[in-house]
Parts: sequence; C-alpha cells; structure tokens
Amino acid sequence: MTEDTAEHALPLTILAEDEAILRDSVREFADAHVRPLVREMDEHAKIPRELVNRLFELGVMGVEIPETYGGSGGTFFHAVLAVEELSRVDPSVGVLVDVQNTLVINALLRWGSEDIKRRYLPRLASNVVGAYALSEAGSGSDAFALTTSARRDREGFVLNGRKLWITNANEADLFLVFATIDPAAGYRGITAFLVERGFDGFAVGKKEDKLGIRASSTCELIFEDCYVHEGNILGAPGKGYKTAIETLNEGRIGIGAQMIGLAKGALQHAVAYTKERKQFGKAIADFQAVQHQLARAAVDVEAATLAVYNAARLREAGRPFLTEAAICKILSSEVAERVTSLAVNLFGGNGFVKDYPVEKLYRDAKIGQIYEGTSNLQLQTIAKQILG
Ligand SMILES: Cc1cc2nc3c(=O)[nH]c(=O)nc-3n(C[C@H](O)[C@H](O)[C@H](O)COP(=O)(O)OP(=O)(O)OC[C@H]3O[C@@H](n4cnc5c(N)ncnc54)[C@H](O)[C@@H]3O)c2cc1C
Repeated sequence: MTEDTAEHALPLTILAEDEAILRDSVREFADAHVRPLVREMDEHAKIPRELVNRLFELGVMGVEIPETYGGSGGTFFHAVLAVEELSRVDPSVGVLVDVQNTLVINALLRWGSEDIKRRYLPRLASNVVGAYALSEAGSGSDAFALTTSARRDREGFVLNGRKLWITNANEADLFLVFATIDPAAGYRGITAFLVERGFDGFAVGKKEDKLGIRASSTCELIFEDCYVHEGNILGAPGKGYKTAIETLNEGRIGIGAQMIGLAKGALQHAVAYTKERKQFGKAIADFQAVQHQLARAAVDVEAATLAVYNAARLREAGRPFLTEAAICKILSSEVAERVTSLAVNLFGGNGFVKDYPVEKLYRDAKIGQIYEGTSNLQLQTIAKQILG
C-alpha cells in the first residue's frame, strides 16, 4: 500500500488533532486579544508591542522552530492555520506572523549554518521580529534586477543601497537582506545577508501610508556602508536567488492563508448582519437574492480554502507545489476581493463607514493581488506549467 492510495487520503479540510488544537487556540486568542484593537490599529497604523509580545507567548512567532532552539516545534501547516485564524480578525496581524514564519524563519531553517541557527532561532522564537528585504524601487516583479550592493571588505561585506516596501520593518530587529556581490553576474551575484537593527550604516526609513493592512508596517531600508560579517551570509555567496525564489514559493501559500482568513471573516460578518438587519418587514437574509449571494461567497471561500490547504499539504509532504501555490494565491486573493466587496454591499450604508468592520477588510483584501508576486506573475507561473 503506498501513501497515494485512498486508504491514506484524508479529506483536505480534516485537521489532525494537533492542528485543530492550534487553530482553536489561535482563534480564541484572535477574538480575545486582537479583535478589540482592530479599529485602533488601523487608525494609528500600528501594531502595539504588547500584542506582538502576546503573539510570542502564544508560540505563533516561531511555529516551525524546533523546540531545541526554543520554538514551538510545529509544522508549515500549523503556520498556515495560525495566519488564517489571525487574518480572519485582522490581516495586518496575519501578515506579521506570516513573514516571520513562512519567509524569515523558513529561510533560516533551510539555509542557516548551525552557528546562524544557534544565534538567531532562539531570539526569533522568543522576542525578535524578522523582516524579508528583496524589493527595491526599481525591482519589484523583476526582483533580481536589484541594485543593493555588497562589496568585499575585511572578513565580510559592505552593503550600500535601498530597499522598499519592507513588511515588519518597524517591529523587526532582524532583516534578511538580498544584495548583489557582483552586478555583472546577474542573478548569480545575489547573496542573502542577515542584518541586525543596530548594525552601523543601517537605518529603517520612511513608512508607507497605505490603503489597507495599515497596521502592518511597510518601510524603506537604507544601507550606507553597512558592514556585515561573512558569518551572517545565509547560504552561500551568489546563491541568494535560490533562497529568495524558494522562500517566496512557500510564502505565497501563507498569503493564500491570509486571504482565506480575511474572506471567512468578511463572510461571517455578512451572515450575522443580514440575519439581523430588517427591511420590508423581514431580515434581509430572508430574501432569496441575498441568500444566493451569500451562497456564492461560500462557494468561493470553499474553493480557495481547498486550494490553499492543498498547496500547504503538498509542501508539507515534500511534493512539488509551485503551480498549486501560484493557483492558491491568485484564487484566494480574488475571492477575498469579491467576498469583502459583497460584504460591503450587504451592509448597505453601514458597509461604507468605519463603525462597521467590513470596509477595512475590503481595503485589506487588495494587497493579496500585489505582494509576493502580483497576479500577473502567478499567471505566468501557471501558464508555464500548462504550456510545458
Ligand atoms: C504592503 C506591501 C508590503 C510588501 N512587503 C514586502 C516585503 O516584506 N519584502 C519585499 O521584498 N517586498 C515587499 N513588497 C513588495 C512587493 O512584493 C512588490 O510591490 C510586488 O512584487 C510588485 O512589484 P512592484 O510594486 O515593483 O510592481 P511592478 O513590478 O512594477 O508591477 C506593476 C504592474 O506590472 C505588472 N507586470 C510587471 N511585470 C510583468 C510581466 N512580466 N508580465 C505581466 N505583467 C507584469 C504587474 O503584474 C503589476 O500589475 C510589499 C509591497 C507592498 C505594497
């Protein structure tokens, strides 16, 4: 009997006991500790440090870090569930946890030397937020056209340049930074460096004022003769492109989780509101037109959830998942946009004001089609697969 046989094929949405326990505890946490802060965090464009500390205490900031390094010793799927549950309440908190786990910690676990793991994983599990710095003003979709340079100096490299759009930059103390050690070598010059907030020549710059996920910080990073010891190179010099590609392939599933959580949150609000709001003498949920709209949204959410869970389970099983990750990201981000738009419509005038939660989720949904590879880039990946 192989693992492909029906006997072992569990339905995608059936969670193992440990997965269900984690999902429930994060759900409870999100309702108790995140929900009361959502509006204030959106208005002030900030996640309070006390909430970040609570996320560490909950264990969701170091999901896959082995217990020997002080982490939760969990799985990739656990991280996906945590991001989904937090995003159901606030996608800004969802992305903070997502970048920490699916990009930064993931990269350190896969490419970190024992020395790097020993120095950084216990901190990432206990109180250090990480950020992932690839994009620049001139290199977004064309990420490997980056120009931040790393010049050999003494026992390390000196970094110069600027990064743009870096999530978690205000909260982070550790930055995974991609720079080129040889511009003439193209992508083969790209190298991944670990930069600490306090390193000389490194500063966090302007914070963006955004449409959605406003509480999640997005900032510029500035490197002016920033010396990084070679012991802080992640993986080998010139191999940073591989680290970037492979972590982003997995990170995309985390964004899928953020988007399905967001869509589920919006649908939940829409169901509750339409059962309560009365027009023409009855609840608006009693109108068949409204019921069909809610049913369509449920179809969308189910399809996106299956796509995200399938990609996550494939990754977990060590199977190829590149196309499935692209599919899950494009589908879930489109679903999030559609479902939140419907939720705004069903709230009527109340959908358009900040006293109700759905206008924020509508704004938050848009980012899913932009970061970690725009929808056009996901389509390119899928097309490459089907055209051979
Ligand atoms: C809130 C936020 C948080 C972010 N967080 C991070 C982070 O933590 N770390 C990080 O490194 N980056 C981050 N980014 C950057 C993000 O990944 C980029 O914005 C994204 O990859 C798109 O790049 P760009 O903005 O330069 O757009 P462009 O690449 O200029 O794209 C503009 C448009 O052109 C289209 N396009 C481009 N090339 C093609 C093509 N070949 N075929 C078809 N269409 C194409 C795109 O689909 C898009 O519609 C973040 C961005 C935002 C807005």
